[in-house]
Amino acid sequence: MAGRGTGKYFAPVYRAKKSPVKVRRIRLFKRCGFIALAVAVAACAIAAFQINRNAGDSFVRVAASEQSLAEVSSYPRIVSHSSPLPEDYVPDNLMSLGTLPNGENVWLRADAAEAFLEMCAAMSKDGLGIVPVRGYTSYEDQSGVLADAADRLVAEGAKADEARKIAAADVFAPGEDEAQLGTSVDVSIDVNCVDKFTLTEQYQWICQNAYRYGFIIRYTADKKNITCVSAKPWHLRYVGREAAEFMVSCNMCLEEYVAAVKADNLKAVEQDQADKAEAEQDQADKAESAQDQADKAKDAGHN
Ligand SMILES: [Zn+2]
Repeated sequence: MAGRGTGKYFAPVYRAKKSPVKVRRIRLFKRCGFIALAVAVAACAIAAFQINRNAGDSFVRVAASEQSLAEVSSYPRIVSHSSPLPEDYVPDNLMSLGTLPNGENVWLRADAAEAFLEMCAAMSKDGLGIVPVRGYTSYEDQSGVLADAADRLVAEGAKADEARKIAAADVFAPGEDEAQLGTSVDVSIDVNCVDKFTLTEQYQWICQNAYRYGFIIRYTADKKNITCVSAKPWHLRYVGREAAEFMVSCNMCLEEYVAAVKADNLKAVEQDQADKAEAEQDQADKAESAQDQADKAKDAGHN
């Protein structure tokens, strides 16, 4: 049942007041003007726990179309401009990861939430912490995000239709944001600054380990030609361990992976990858033995 006993779900993200990670995080929040966070978390924890317990009631559950349900169960659903979600799609089993300083909850689908918290626990064992800053986003909320972005541009002097265009280039249109699936989460070391995330140890850790928990970095610079979305290193997508491991080992983005699944082509891709790795190893071995030969010849010359 969603949210039953969810007190523990706050643990990896916001608990452990005296750990170095927490202390560092508090300093960061102070710097960004969030001195009240610790108090707010304590105050919100009880309230949010109540919300969690009632998660099933606080979201209207609407059955998605048969096709999209089938897609979600057989392979991860791609959400994009050409494959948007219906306005009334709301994922089942949303679970709160915790409360932001502004009082809003960060929600994820339960399986993604569990995996995320497991990953956070592993990170914190390595002395690192991240905070989830955005999870499930409803169609309606995304409309608001887009409108706000356009309004800001208008306030800066842009014309309304121009502002809408510029905002749309930068912000997902409602229905085209996979955050509506409840399986993606934006992370940061600080709720207020996502910009410099790639410079952090946390990012390095995620690059190396997130797949073990079923997460991929959904939009990378080298796959922009396929995803049509600019790099978003802070945006993690839960796809399950098996798929994540496959994508990472074969350097595939979700679009490539789903195409391979649909073509029943995973085995061939895996074989290709193995052949390539073997060829690279051969190459390296040859280079090494050539170097050995050269070194021996050099030694012989010195004698
Ligand atoms: Zn995102």
